[in-house]
Amino acid sequence: MKITILTLFPEMFTGPFSCSIIKRAAEKGLVELETVNLRDFTKDRHRTVDDTPYGGGPGMVLKPEPVFEAVETIIGKKGRKPYTVLTTPQGEVFRQQIATELAGKEELLFICGHYEGYDERIRTLADRELSIGDYVLTGGELPAMVMIDAVVRLLPGALGAPEAASNDSFSAGLLDYPQYTKPAVYKGLVVPDVLLSGHHQQIAAWRRREALLRTAERRRDLLVQADLSREERAFLAEKFPGLYGSEDAPAGRTLRGRARGKREEKG
Ligand code: SAM
Repeated sequence: MKITILTLFPEMFTGPFSCSIIKRAAEKGLVELETVNLRDFTKDRHRTVDDTPYGGGPGMVLKPEPVFEAVETIIGKKGRKPYTVLTTPQGEVFRQQIATELAGKEELLFICGHYEGYDERIRTLADRELSIGDYVLTGGELPAMVMIDAVVRLLPGALGAPEAASNDSFSAGLLDYPQYTKPAVYKGLVVPDVLLSGHHQQIAAWRRREALLRTAERRRDLLVQADLSREERAFLAEKFPGLYGSEDAPAGRTLRGRARGKREEKG
């Protein structure tokens, strides 16, 4: 996979790209990472990339010309346009499923904004607008790093153990189960017996149960989409009376109500 990042601050990527899994994935040839400085596509002496907003108001706006010229140069070199992600707090909120989709692309291009925002015409370059959450950061560099990290660790061969990513939170629609390592007792806190038993089936069953419980306690919204067996739903309904409610439950109040709300939204 090839990932290109259009940014005003290429130096911000040096640290995160030269450590840990991203570094190893690049060394193994699983990913090629390149930063492109937007200022290299300016024509004036001051290398200006921003200007005042039409209509007035505070702050500066990222100009369209350097961004369009950079993207056109990248397309010219490659012969095709990479799948282009615009980082913006106004985008769809990034989640694991989107990371998986992006990991399936051959080439990605991230556009990092800055200042008060983009000239609206820049949006026409994007295949997808993505946000990393409902808060506003100074620039798109940290969001791009967050998304690239999530994508690169999904590339086959990037993690030490091939199945490691499939156990992670969200990958199966649930939060991850609790993990323990040695020692078996620390400050009086003990590791559950089942994990020391060596009984693989019981361990797998315990982990699945714990993942269900943890998700029901912390992120009930995830259970609406999760693929659960009838027994698993019964188990949760017993632990959390009222969790599933009835078909008449108000949309959003119980899992059935939420699922119905989603069906109604989709029409
Ligand atoms: N005025 C803009 C708005 O309200 O939508 C925010 C501009 S922000 C200060 C500057 C740039 O940081 C954005 O263009 C975007 O590239 C990036 N950015 C800030 N917060 C972000 C977030 N939560 N997710 C993704 N990108 C973000």
